[in-house]
Amino acid sequence: MSSKPFNAFAMAQAQFDKVAELLGLDQPTRDLLRQPMREYHFSLPIRMDDGTMKVFRAFRVQHNDARGPGKGGIRFHPQETIDTVRALSMWMTWKCAVVDIPLGGSKGGIICSPHSLSMREQEALCRAWVRAVARDVGPVRDVPAPDVMTNAQHMLWMLDEFETIHGGRYPGFITGKPVGMGGSRGRTEATGYGVVFTLREALKELGIRAQGTTASVQGFGNVAQHAIDLYQQIGGKIVCVSCWDEGDQQAYTYRKKDGVDLAALRKIADRFGTLDKKKAVDLGYERLPGDAWIEQDVDILIPAALEHSITDENVGKISKRVKLIAEGANGPTTPEADHVLQERGIFVIPDFLANAGGVTCSYLEQVQSNMNYFWEKDEVLGKLDVLITAAFIAVSDMAKKRKLYMRDAAYVIAIARVAQACKDRGWV
Ligand code: GLU
Repeated sequence: MSSKPFNAFAMAQAQFDKVAELLGLDQPTRDLLRQPMREYHFSLPIRMDDGTMKVFRAFRVQHNDARGPGKGGIRFHPQETIDTVRALSMWMTWKCAVVDIPLGGSKGGIICSPHSLSMREQEALCRAWVRAVARDVGPVRDVPAPDVMTNAQHMLWMLDEFETIHGGRYPGFITGKPVGMGGSRGRTEATGYGVVFTLREALKELGIRAQGTTASVQGFGNVAQHAIDLYQQIGGKIVCVSCWDEGDQQAYTYRKKDGVDLAALRKIADRFGTLDKKKAVDLGYERLPGDAWIEQDVDILIPAALEHSITDENVGKISKRVKLIAEGANGPTTPEADHVLQERGIFVIPDFLANAGGVTCSYLEQVQSNMNYFWEKDEVLGKLDVLITAAFIAVSDMAKKRKLYMRDAAYVIAIARVAQACKDRGWV
């Protein structure tokens, strides 16, 4: 537990304020960009499987759409708050800007625990969320996508509801759809692969060969699994993964010092990426406390779970050997911990650059949907590599040129682009 209560939105605003100062932004631009432009809060009454009615709170926050329609996922989480969604929507604005795709930033959330919801109840929630927001989202306004605990099936239910309401086929309403139903090949892999594309570039900069490096991963969801896959393909070794255990209401770290076997772990994971405790131990994994992933003697840390993972409480546990952190999650590092990482000279690939592969592929999905012509997986992943690598190089050039920390350099590029778009439109 951290000493101060954590508020993701306060953190996103603190990061913004620091760079607004650095850029010398005028007051109206700061006032416009440090708050979301619009937000929607609603209650969703759902008929549960046992016949009772239950009311869920839900949100959609549109931070900024100066560079294009709002874009961002929708999360299902029991601890979701409006401030978390606000922060995530702001991070989406910077993420789309740093990779230079013509989209703005939005985010949605429903306070719920999918572990205890049947698929029928989840479908009802998806459809109710779309009914609540159907007139304020859409292909040219705001385009949702998957995020924590939502997937392609949820996107298809949402699309179906939207198309039923609007009476037509609008595949551009949502991304992360199933392949064959308007989805893009490679979208499932995109976020995790993007993390490793940027990691590969960072290793090049540091003069380290990927082959023979070791890494520790927090999380075992979609992002973590695909990051592990590609990192192992380029010759890296993962010594542990950690995951949340819903039954025990705590996280565990599973370690195998000679390297985890991704295929074997996938076989014992549920759809939320929770590993079966007993089977993991039977496979020879050590079961350690949830936080143990951060104190491993490795070269690279990949936080790929949720926000607020590297804090002032645990940053001191990071091994001296760690040279690089690639943030697969959104907002994993608090500003206090970030300060320590910067002082220690650890190379950080900030979240909104490292994990931008998902939304970049969503953009490629929109392009394919609009053409109604779908590319092979290699073509999609090749284009993703080109876009995210170019963004990484632009950020690292900026960091060198202006002697900035990587996170600040990424922010300088992203905020300057969004501020310019607002100015050019005559908003401020
Ligand atoms: N939810 C993902 C993210 O945080 C992807 C968003 C999208 O594809 O719109 O970046």
